[in-house]
Amino acid sequence: MSESTSPSGFKASQLWRDNGWQIDGGFGLSPAGVLFDNPTGPTEQIGRWVLPGMPNLHSHAFQRAMAGLAERRSKADDSFWSWRETMYAFAAAINPDQLKAIAAQLYVEMLKAGYTHVCEFHYLHHQPDGTAYAQPEEMSLALIEAAREAGIGLTLLPVLYMSGGFDGRALSARQRRFGHSVDSYLRLLETLRAHESDDVRVGIALHSLRAVPELALRDVLASELAQTGPIHIHIAEQIGEVQDCLATRGARPVEWLFDHAAVDARWCLVHATHLTEAETLQLARSGAVAGLCPTTEANLGDGLFPLADFLDAGGKLGIGSDSHISISPVEELRWLEYGQRLLSRHRNIAARRQGDSVGETLWRAALNGGAQASGAPIGALRAGVRADLIVLDDSSPLLAARDARSLIDSFLFAGNTPLVRDVMVGGRWQVRNFRHRDEERIAARYRAAVDTIGTH
Ligand code: ZN
Repeated sequence: MSESTSPSGFKASQLWRDNGWQIDGGFGLSPAGVLFDNPTGPTEQIGRWVLPGMPNLHSHAFQRAMAGLAERRSKADDSFWSWRETMYAFAAAINPDQLKAIAAQLYVEMLKAGYTHVCEFHYLHHQPDGTAYAQPEEMSLALIEAAREAGIGLTLLPVLYMSGGFDGRALSARQRRFGHSVDSYLRLLETLRAHESDDVRVGIALHSLRAVPELALRDVLASELAQTGPIHIHIAEQIGEVQDCLATRGARPVEWLFDHAAVDARWCLVHATHLTEAETLQLARSGAVAGLCPTTEANLGDGLFPLADFLDAGGKLGIGSDSHISISPVEELRWLEYGQRLLSRHRNIAARRQGDSVGETLWRAALNGGAQASGAPIGALRAGVRADLIVLDDSSPLLAARDARSLIDSFLFAGNTPLVRDVMVGGRWQVRNFRHRDEERIAARYRAAVDTIGTH
């Protein structure tokens, strides 16, 4: 099997299916890179342990290049809000070519870590002074091109960002790059929908309740363009945001959103960190996905999501690398569990029934929730689903003497050596033997691009 051509089908000693491991399973691959059952053509043995690739449901690609630049104490109460100052300075400096270079490098790193699809929550729309580019979708197209170069699936979520706070204040100078009216936003959305393909979906993102006034929220959700595709929103990430929402709107953010929008399975509530018991139940029952970003939430000092109560209520979750302080589904899921252990001083929190595996529970939940939030047919090894898969390194000592019962727990919890050996997206190999097919060129361009940003 070469890097650029698709096999007609594959087999594996152990395939992670909807109900657990299947021994000696296999699939055919359609020319469009979709799985089908009972292939008649030649199939290739691709490995011992084969899992569906993980969707990454929350990314701000440009932030990859500032990872590590906000770890020096600036004042006694450093917080999300002081981190945001560094982020704004960085956001002001990036042009479309740099964005493409950063995003392509990020997406290569995602693929090598086992992410095969990314939801890009994209608000860096305009020129630094806030005027639109000659082609208003130029920054969005940079992300689409980067995803195609790297070979990762993309759900592009252009962001509506209108005000600088719950009181409706105008955007600050540094927020002007992000801003849209409802009309210009819907025009952008319409333009981008014309770029949809098997690998590129376009959904809607509302930056947050503080950045989207009530009327605008209503207008966008009522538009024809909002009747299909996923809808994402940042919500309840910070206590300050909850307090401001209570003060200006008389309700907590999640409570307010449910009172003003028909939140259902098309929605992804990103972070949803600070929830009351009633909000936790409401979110779980709505069928919406909680978009959790544990390494970013830890890095920013956000707080901890009420995982046990949410899972007990049947809630759906997925994971995102968000600020890209870490690019690893293993680390996201590990920290999701470890945060809960530290808080509760107990173990095995995500596994809600006796005998359940934490690793399997979390990997499966994040696959299902991530696929739902992506609005794409991904996240499973099943006929009709896009052929996104990862092959683990069965020669690694970390997986020695592991069987189907212990494999995913060891993959998630047993060390820091990368175990993702090969990665396929849409039926095509993007990573083989730990190397992405174009990683040298993409990394060289990234180095040149970040050298010219000049904010460090
Ligand atoms: Zn975010």
